[in-house]
Amino acid sequence: MSSSGAEPSIFSRIIDRQIPATIVAETDRLIAFEDIAPKAPVHVVITTKDPQYRNVVELAAGDPALLADLVGLARQIAAERTNGQFRLVFNTGEAAGQTVFHVHAHVLGSPTASETLGEDSLGAL
Ligand code: 5GP
Repeated sequence: MSSSGAEPSIFSRIIDRQIPATIVAETDRLIAFEDIAPKAPVHVVITTKDPQYRNVVELAAGDPALLADLVGLARQIAAERTNGQFRLVFNTGEAAGQTVFHVHAHVLGSPTASETLGEDSLGAL
């Protein structure tokens, strides 16, 4: 159910297993899956199971503990899949590149120590 009364977001449909995704981590309140159009060697999306927050600003105001949990899950995923250095991106607003209005973070990184993330992984998000 969406707070706006609109159709469930694409992420809600992934959470409900209505459409497939490569899920990499899940807790009682969060889910993480590989982005369908990766912009970096590691590109994982983490979203809340509760769709009521449209962006990170709303999540920070409404449930800061859940935001902290999301950042902790990002750290865990980055520790498992990257060289330990990563980008954590929350597009906030259409003009900033947000296309899915169900709060989510992008975890972007590389598994190898020598590989650095270019600006492409920022600009194309
Ligand atoms: P935004 O542009 O809102 O910051 O991020 C939305 C992200 O969701 C995009 O990077 C896009 O590639 C990803 N995405 C959109 N639809 C799907 C889907 O059906 N499956 C998966 N795994 N990712 C999706």
